[in-house]
Amino acid sequence: MERRFQLSTQKLRSWLWDEAKGFLVGLVMATIVVELLYFMIRQSPQHWWLITWALFMGLFILLAQLAPVVLFPIFYKFEPLDDEDLRRRLVQLGERAGTRVRGVYRWKLSEKSKKANAALTGLGRTRRIILADTLLDNYAPEEIEAVLAHELGHHVHRHILKSILVQAGITLLGFWLANFVLHYAVDHHMFEELSDFANLPLLAITATLLSLLLMPALNAYSRYNERQADRYAFESIASVEPFISSMNKLAQQNLAERTPAKWIELLFHSHPAISRRVAAAEEWGRAQSVGPPA
Ligand SMILES: [Zn+2]
Repeated sequence: MERRFQLSTQKLRSWLWDEAKGFLVGLVMATIVVELLYFMIRQSPQHWWLITWALFMGLFILLAQLAPVVLFPIFYKFEPLDDEDLRRRLVQLGERAGTRVRGVYRWKLSEKSKKANAALTGLGRTRRIILADTLLDNYAPEEIEAVLAHELGHHVHRHILKSILVQAGITLLGFWLANFVLHYAVDHHMFEELSDFANLPLLAITATLLSLLLMPALNAYSRYNERQADRYAFESIASVEPFISSMNKLAQQNLAERTPAKWIELLFHSHPAISRRVAAAEEWGRAQSVGPPA
């Protein structure tokens, strides 16, 4: 699809290599997770779901920390941002917010795509903002600053930590449900015992159904965080104009749907529609120019 719309610039060989690497990484992680799961079910048929939940959350946090330094570099090249002007702008933004992001990295996305993107990733010492070179090379410094301010908003509002906590709650619910389903299946003689490996597909279906059901709620939560990060950006940059122009550029460059159908946005979108983000920025700009209401 991305090739048909000329968004992807990746050659077939490179794409196949990425697929192979993705498969291997997935295989290693899935093997560890499944072996651990059935080991715990055998060890403690009553409390396996609580213990495994705690173990998985530990793994999850470790992964969030390692992702920017171990996982992402498998697929993309990163290097510290060498643009002095941008670094200075970020330091100033951070100082005003009383916080500090440890690193800003240039993300070599152009090797594979024409799209532009930016993100806040990592935990603790690996916390960093990554900016696609497709963005860095084509946007004005004020526009990049607006994007940086948005990512800094995620950092200031502790969105990664909060998302991990939300994920922890959902995963706990998932494990409780998995335990319930497995016990039900054994009680009804579908399987000999709880640790029967043949019930893996049943576990997979349970997890898939639960995440499908929760997806709209999680997306709503994500959109809430995005709006908060946008508001943070409005407050920290001198004018909302570069924010608006960067949004318009991003929509054009990424072929984003500016105004998706309301129900599509509600169910599937992790970010508010571009048209809504632009409208919010314009409203903020207007409120600033007339001054706060009496
Ligand atoms: Zn964001």
